[in-house]
Amino acid sequence: MSDNLYARIRARFPAELARPMLYRPDGSMLTYGDVDRISGQVAGLLDALGVGVGDRVAVQVDKSPMALMLYLGCLRRGAVYLPLNTAYKPAELDYFIDNAEPRLVVCRPEAEAAVRAIIGQRDIAVGTLDGSGDGAFADRVRAQPGGFAPAARTGDDLAAILYSSGTTGRPKGVMLSGDNLWSNAETLVEAWGFTDGDVLLHMLPIFHTHGLFVATHCVLLAGAAMLFEPKFDAARALALMPRASVMMGVPTFYVRLLAETGLTREATRHMRLFVSGSAPLLPETFQRFEAVTDHRILERYGMTETNMNTSNPLDGERRLGTVGRPLPGVDLRITGEDGQPVPAGAAGMIELRGPNVFKGYWRMPDKTAEDFTADGFFQSGDIGQIDGDGYVSIVGRAKDLVISGGFNVYPKEVELVIDSIPGVAETAVIGVPHADFGEAVVAIVVREPGADTPDEAAVLAATRETLANFKQPKRVLFAADLPRNAMGKVQKNLLRDAHRDLFK
Ligand code: ATP
Ligand code: MG
Repeated sequence: MSDNLYARIRARFPAELARPMLYRPDGSMLTYGDVDRISGQVAGLLDALGVGVGDRVAVQVDKSPMALMLYLGCLRRGAVYLPLNTAYKPAELDYFIDNAEPRLVVCRPEAEAAVRAIIGQRDIAVGTLDGSGDGAFADRVRAQPGGFAPAARTGDDLAAILYSSGTTGRPKGVMLSGDNLWSNAETLVEAWGFTDGDVLLHMLPIFHTHGLFVATHCVLLAGAAMLFEPKFDAARALALMPRASVMMGVPTFYVRLLAETGLTREATRHMRLFVSGSAPLLPETFQRFEAVTDHRILERYGMTETNMNTSNPLDGERRLGTVGRPLPGVDLRITGEDGQPVPAGAAGMIELRGPNVFKGYWRMPDKTAEDFTADGFFQSGDIGQIDGDGYVSIVGRAKDLVISGGFNVYPKEVELVIDSIPGVAETAVIGVPHADFGEAVVAIVVREPGADTPDEAAVLAATRETLANFKQPKRVLFAADLPRNAMGKVQKNLLRDAHRDLFK
């Protein structure tokens, strides 16, 4: 039997196909019947363009309902969907096109010339789609008859390749099978209690796991609807909340909502759930959001390679500073440098195994082999610990760990201390080469707008009170902001590069 992922998703559509699946900002909608028809037209067009089973379709377009139909149409055709961050410049596309060898590239109309130049003589088709979902590709989709029968695929076959965010280096192509995506989608619908009565406020990009898989699969598998917005806008989010029941966001969404005077208990009354992930949610954000709205944000932890691994509970305690417990079916363990499990409560590498874990890095067999243990666990690169009740906390990334004078310093611990000093907006703690210590702890501090305190001496004094000597920063530097990548994640590698000669 074929386990084409589109066919599996389609089997969950409501019997009544006239039900809304997606509302555009202007209030017009796509019904489940529309989704079935358009995805079939897309699949038909892909076929006509020579996109075969297993071929990659690279897509770098602005968020629109048609872009989402392109994802579903690829699944239906049995092709491999490969979305690209819209922030990448044409010059950067070179790497992705070379690396992925797509059969078709769909891009923004204004990028077409640059894309064609990159492709050169290679036999790769090009289509264009603009931010409203129109363009040459969409016109050709609409001219197709539809009704395309889903191509035969097994659950193990690739459904998508997503590039990781590139926080720690060059983005890696993550190969995800139909089973990887399906198993996680089913788990999340159950864990977060999605029903056909839900309306998801969708303001995330759809080139990343969070907005593409986590958000839209929950909607599609539950027969729910979503308010599909081109991007995050705090005032607009507040205006839409009376029509929504769930919002998924990155921590910045919540920080920006908190800056709106319109954020009140009343404004969020219709919402049943706020989910946060992709980056650490600061305790202060969680606490202030609860104080203002009475909602405890549900934080979960995932990555491109594994989909979602842990979640705080829908019912039960959402524990501050944790990402909750492992989701059903996910094996999570914490290991030390020797690869052996650490004692309860100790910090170490988070290792993951389960149907959610990816098939490997695209065309990087050595990297893939290096990152899996002999017994099949993926070494996530994140350092975490588990408390007595099974709640997992992320302490930081292994690559960001500072080893000073032979001692491990987890940047997060130092950052939390400095963040709590009045006048500090945020902090990044890094290790910088140092002749005596190997690495020295250095804090880069961003003050609140308008604040001119604390100064270096005040920060050092505060860390001296609460932190062991080896964890205290040797220097505190101030910056107007922290370097972030297109997903809003702090790029500590850039900070390390910028300050590598600080002690020379
Ligand atoms: P790259 O792997 O290319 O360096 P990346 O790891 O940022 O980039 P993603 O797969 O988008 O790429 O992000 C996954 C990472 O995001 C996780 O490994 C983890 O470090 C971080 N993350 C996700 N959710 C949370 C969370 N709730 N709290 C803390 N960190 C999180
Ligand atoms: Mg990563």
